[in-house]
Amino acid sequence: MEYWRDLSSWLKETYGRRLYRVPLDAGMTCPVRDGTISRTGCTFCAGGSGSFAIRYEGQKLSMEDLIYNGQNVPAGDYIGYFQAYTNTYAPAERLRFLFEHALADPLFAGIDIATRPDCIDAECLQLLQQLKEAYPHKFIWVELGLQTAVDATAETIGRGYSYDVFETCVQRLAEAGICVIVHVILSLPEEGLQDNIATMHALNALPVQGVKIQMLQILKGSVMAEEYRRDPDAFALFSEKEYAERCAYCLGHLRRDIVVHRLTGDGDRSLLLAPLWGVAKTQVINDIRHIMKEKHITQGSLL
Ligand code: SF4
Repeated sequence: MEYWRDLSSWLKETYGRRLYRVPLDAGMTCPVRDGTISRTGCTFCAGGSGSFAIRYEGQKLSMEDLIYNGQNVPAGDYIGYFQAYTNTYAPAERLRFLFEHALADPLFAGIDIATRPDCIDAECLQLLQQLKEAYPHKFIWVELGLQTAVDATAETIGRGYSYDVFETCVQRLAEAGICVIVHVILSLPEEGLQDNIATMHALNALPVQGVKIQMLQILKGSVMAEEYRRDPDAFALFSEKEYAERCAYCLGHLRRDIVVHRLTGDGDRSLLLAPLWGVAKTQVINDIRHIMKEKHITQGSLL
């Protein structure tokens, strides 16, 4: 590990090669969108990051469907990434159909399911456990959109579940042998460094294997975009340097074994209203590295 435990090194150590996520859209929604909890969606969300996802109904995908940024990736080096909205928010039989077809597809080394902890019930857990046993040569990861461990912020952003729901879900997934990756947003409204560090410490205390960290992005179609249009000054959006510094400190407070899957935003550029520096991902990563070097920080060194 140079400054943080990066995904591609971990993939090579664990699977002997790099693997590439293929975003899939299985036509789900979320309980914060369909009225079960609310109708607004989380206030930062413009639709579950599914802009580039392939509509998936269990069909056999071709290599042409999976072309990754023009690279020639061999079959078997892909991850079926159920990305759009909440991918366990459907009856168990439908989930079984979708996940089984993806696991049975020789193109995929495993599947990665983005969801919410309040949408993984006992039946869903049992299904994941059964699939893990039925496909021992494939992996199943679950990505949980926590964003923050601070419940007051979670309420402000309309997340719709409390931290203890997340905590219980992570423990249950770990007991079922499922790898858990957690999404965190730095620079949420009214959150400071200490709140972000508290989130890192919360993850450290749980059987979490991976984290995706990103800056707050104002995306067209989100509730925040409307607020931003009315009053851009109401958002104390980070400059690139502020974000890089915040990331550096947060990584210093993150357990050393947690794999860092992402350190920038991954959304659809055409939806991005602010901050626009977020599209220069390599620059952001280089700056985080530079600050860590300058301040003698490595992942976990500030714990
Ligand atoms: S962040 Fe996730 S749970 Fe919240 S509205 Fe978007 S897709 Fe749904």
